Amino acid sequence: MAGIDLDLTTRKQRDELVRLVGEAQTVVGFTGAGISTESGIPDFRSPGGLWTKNQPIPFDEFLSSASARREAWRRKFEMDPVIAKAQPGRGHMAMSRLVAAGKMPGVITQNIDNLHQLSGVPAERVVELHGNGTYAHCLDCGVRHELADIKVKFESTGEAPMCAECGGVVKSATISFGQAMPELAMQRARDLSLNCDLFLTVGSSLVVQPAAWFPVVAKDAGARLVIVNREATPLDSIADLVINADIGSVLSPLAPLM
Ligand code: NAD
Ligand code: ZN
Repeated sequence: MAGIDLDLTTRKQRDELVRLVGEAQTVVGFTGAGISTESGIPDFRSPGGLWTKNQPIPFDEFLSSASARREAWRRKFEMDPVIAKAQPGRGHMAMSRLVAAGKMPGVITQNIDNLHQLSGVPAERVVELHGNGTYAHCLDCGVRHELADIKVKFESTGEAPMCAECGGVVKSATISFGQAMPELAMQRARDLSLNCDLFLTVGSSLVVQPAAWFPVVAKDAGARLVIVNREATPLDSIADLVINADIGSVLSPLAPLM
């Protein structure tokens, strides 16, 4: 049975989560890299996570340094096959069922791995705060560039791509540290946060701003806040329920509820 691996305290907390979801009219999901570790994609801040191996390349460094751009593309093409073969985990499936049941109008995610969409959440209900890693674009003229073309050239020349149209810098369509946030996604995330009675954050260390601001927006607007994450987060003290346990085991019982 799902969740049988959980200790007594966590089982009680999971039952409380099931109760809160049952009581709520509108649940908004908010996810971070931790929901995708079960799918084989490493997160940043778990022990041994990507953070301990490679510090992220800030946006201004990407812009100013050709070697930083080469390193960013090297890392991207190293990680892409891992993401390409990843399948949604139990956390993604639980959220997808909440969406299908009409209980969850949208999932706000910091992830760029497309797994919410793959789990069956309609694309228009996934709000990607940090963009999408499946294509690239020119930072100057905005024209779209396909990763397959970039990869062929990168592997033969070792050089980061520049835009053939305008000579601008080409970057994957994800948001780096220090880069402006996508306005429409921010607006949609704000609207969702303001209009729910339960805000469910799953697998985020809640330290990356401004994304980590949305649980506070929801809480201030009167929603209950639940945090499911293996490690403590800076927002635990304002949450109504904190569950420090494995996401898949905690979330899978949400399904039979529907
Ligand atoms: P994070 O790495 O800072 O935090 C992930 C959290 O998830 C950690 O606190 C960890 O304890 C927890 N966790 C991991 N596996 C878990 C599990 N099975 N059960 C319970 N908890 C688990 O991630 P973040 O807050 O999303 O911030 C990292 C940034 O890096 C984000 O901006 C995101 O865009 C990006 N990122 C994305 C991916 C992806 O798309 N899958 C992967 C790595 C990083
Ligand atoms: Zn261009």
